[in-house]
Amino acid sequence: MEERSSCRIVQADIDIKRWMTALPSVEQMRPPRCPCCDVASRPVNGPRVMRGHGLRERQVCGPLDPGDAPQQVTVRARRYRCSGCGAITLVVPRGVLRRRRYAASAIGWVLARIGLDGATTPVVRAEVCGAVIVGVAAAERWLAPSRWIEASRRGQLFPRLGRHSAESRRAHIAERTAMQLVALSPRGGAGEPAAHLAFRGAALAA
Ligand SMILES: [Zn+2]
Repeated sequence: MEERSSCRIVQADIDIKRWMTALPSVEQMRPPRCPCCDVASRPVNGPRVMRGHGLRERQVCGPLDPGDAPQQVTVRARRYRCSGCGAITLVVPRGVLRRRRYAASAIGWVLARIGLDGATTPVVRAEVCGAVIVGVAAAERWLAPSRWIEASRRGQLFPRLGRHSAESRRAHIAERTAMQLVALSPRGGAGEPAAHLAFRGAALAA
């Protein structure tokens, strides 16, 4: 599941659900330029530089729509190889994050439920984690939200949103990040809960 450091990730403008319904073609998802060496992927009078290089499966956790039951899905990401510099580029649906098992939207949901609704970690875990949690795992603290909050503090969760000061309390970071995600969300119906808006905003913030 880990990508090599030489592998760049490009987010497509297609959400996970649509991507899974109909896998976009090599042609549709070909990046216009190599993200590594910046050469045009389809020069006007030359051969293609970014060539399709197969598929790579990624496991993604979380609900596919806000408030839906959580699931773990397998997404087939498209790989391209640049014949100029040799770099591999992985094109993923919008909201699939590098080195994270959860979709961006599920993370946005968790931060909003904890930071804005005051929901407890076990409740939120049940909302985004599709695996049945039994035995020892059920008794363990769920550390993912703490890791996401720490990454948000350093500006590494959603880099577009900036970072937080080292003194900020975790609850405050969750609240602030969730509010930023809500602000990024396309407006839904009147009275749509904040967690739903943060879910949609997070997919766009990734
Ligand atoms: Zn290149």
